[in-house]
Amino acid sequence: MTISVLNRDGAELSLGQLHDQAEQIDDELMPCRSNNPELWFAESPSDVEYAKQLCLECPVRALCLSGALERREPWGVWGGQLFLQGVVIPRKRPRGRPRKNEVAA
Ligand code: SF4
Repeated sequence: MTISVLNRDGAELSLGQLHDQAEQIDDELMPCRSNNPELWFAESPSDVEYAKQLCLECPVRALCLSGALERREPWGVWGGQLFLQGVVIPRKRPRGRPRKNEVAA
């Protein structure tokens, strides 16, 4: 099976071609390498959302997301999406159980 993704110009590239492109990109242009990498595996939902936003500027985001989907990443932010047990989930839930009764404000 050949996996392909679209680059920024809408052209279809194979994963191999995208890997070649990623190797040519300066690490400083990849937010997860120029910021604290712990953000991409943070416990705090707000930190996770911040990491997802930072990914949006990454020049290899399509490649990163495709690779994470292919590997079924167990955890973390990859390609601007949050993964849990190999699938993309919309957002991280805060720790602890939800309240049974809403607290009046
Ligand atoms: S898209 Fe991937 S490589 Fe780029 S900042 Fe996000 S996690 Fe890092």
